[in-house]
Amino acid sequence: MHTIIEPFRIKAVEPIHFTTREQRELLLKEAHYNTFLLKSDDVLIDLLTDSGTSAMSSDQWAGIMRGDESYAGSPSFFRFEAVVKELTGMPFIIPTHQGRASEKILFSITGGKGKVFISNTLFDTTRANIEFSGAEGIDLVCEEGKHPTIPAPFKGNMDVEALERTIQEKGKEHIAMVIMTVTNNSGGGQPVSMGNIRSVKAICAQNGIPFYIDACRFAENAYFIKIREEEFADKSVESIAQEMFSYADGCTMSAKKDAFANIGGFLALHDKDLAQQCRNLLVITEGFPTYGGLAGRDLEAIAIGLREVLDEHYLQYRIRSMEYLTEKLIKAGVPVMQPAGGHAVYLDAKQFLDHIPVEQYPGQALVCALYITGGVRCVEIGSLMFGKYDDAGKLVPATLELVRLAIPRRVYTQSHIDYVAEVIIEVYKNRKAIPGIRIVEEAPLLRHFTAKMELIR
Ligand SMILES: *Cc1c(COP(=O)(O)O)cnc(C)c1O
Repeated sequence: MHTIIEPFRIKAVEPIHFTTREQRELLLKEAHYNTFLLKSDDVLIDLLTDSGTSAMSSDQWAGIMRGDESYAGSPSFFRFEAVVKELTGMPFIIPTHQGRASEKILFSITGGKGKVFISNTLFDTTRANIEFSGAEGIDLVCEEGKHPTIPAPFKGNMDVEALERTIQEKGKEHIAMVIMTVTNNSGGGQPVSMGNIRSVKAICAQNGIPFYIDACRFAENAYFIKIREEEFADKSVESIAQEMFSYADGCTMSAKKDAFANIGGFLALHDKDLAQQCRNLLVITEGFPTYGGLAGRDLEAIAIGLREVLDEHYLQYRIRSMEYLTEKLIKAGVPVMQPAGGHAVYLDAKQFLDHIPVEQYPGQALVCALYITGGVRCVEIGSLMFGKYDDAGKLVPATLELVRLAIPRRVYTQSHIDYVAEVIIEVYKNRKAIPGIRIVEEAPLLRHFTAKMELIR
């Protein structure tokens, strides 16, 4: 078998900026050891997120020029609507400016005090919108999904027994919906099997509970089903994705992920009355129903991106990129999440920096070391992001201390990834010299975005 290559050639390039180690030490100090506070011009390889960072294709850029900016009834909307309808099989398609706007609209109507939303794992904006409505969110990921370094094919699956138990306990009339996140972003980009989707759908149907999909990475999930679930080996990724959607009453989507767009999202629904209520809210928060929160040109880029993402050469290259980096790290003994997820590689910082106690944020310490050593920017997903304080002011740490290296779609080449592996391995070899982190200033909510920190020398 030949090397799996980038299935594109490069038409426009964007320079990246080199800095010296001494400069990065100073820049990071000025950013208070918070990589969110760095200027992106001071980053060499930016793995902060895969959201909105995709490279668009020449077809998408052509679509940008073709975009029709009519306020109402733009042909760009009808092209977008037709693509989403064909993919999801859902008749009511509502464009929004990004995924969380779809969530806000949907949960404003279906949520509220006393309501319960059950998921494999709710993404943070999804949970925040549920809780903001007054409702409760419950995560029921399967047991395999809780152990980062033990491989299993579908670690994003929902725990079906726990789902039945929770429905019993809470009472089916209180469950607003079950939401399956594909792939499971907060659980490491791990996929959900079609078998699990079918089982969860059957339980929802028995109990009269609506079943929704948080579809941000539907194509990556569908490709995992094709290569890991025997029944689907000969099916097209498109037909697998269509089957996933066929079980759902609706879906929310961020086009900043698997639609290769820099902005955008949508809500797709089967229920006509619910769609009407959503459109009523859309008009006051996003815009007229044929553009939502978007320009006509964005609708074109999304419509084209949603077709392109189903290309199996692309998906093979995409999934292989994560595996390739993961394999290099495993070979060097670096503790890394296994198997690789669909959009990111996760380092286990608790093992990586086992000399740093959780109170000194090993994940953030590792994030800082990767930037200083190689100009690579990534994000802590651990106690800085999810830690809380108890009544005595003592840190209640997160269950896992992870560092996420999210890979933007179609942006970096294999040599960029080789470089990232070299940087991680170099940091691993010198890990004992890495200091812990102390927070000196923090906000009460979502503190990781703005916290000011220092190194413990
Ligand atoms: C990104 C994301 C969202 C929110 O989408 P935005 O476009 O960032 O608002 C919701 N769910 C999942 C799983 C995501 O990855």
